[in-house]
Amino acid sequence: MTARICPYCNEKMQRGYISAQNRLCWTPEGETDRGSTLWSKSPNSIVLAEYYLLAAAKVDADYCESCGKIIIDISG
Ligand SMILES: [Zn+2]
Repeated sequence: MTARICPYCNEKMQRGYISAQNRLCWTPEGETDRGSTLWSKSPNSIVLAEYYLLAAAKVDADYCESCGKIIIDISG
């Protein structure tokens, strides 16, 4: 797989991933990322990675060292 080029500075980005022991979500500013249960979420949240059975939540992410940006593709 070829490295992604940073759209900000056109340098090569480093491929990696972000993981957690629960769900990773992006939530719009001003909205809560919590619902009535541990597994509920705001309807406007975008799930970046879902906890699945015994594996940690994990999503591929490209990192640009020179401008300190991370880009994540939202799958499905
Ligand atoms: Zn960059």
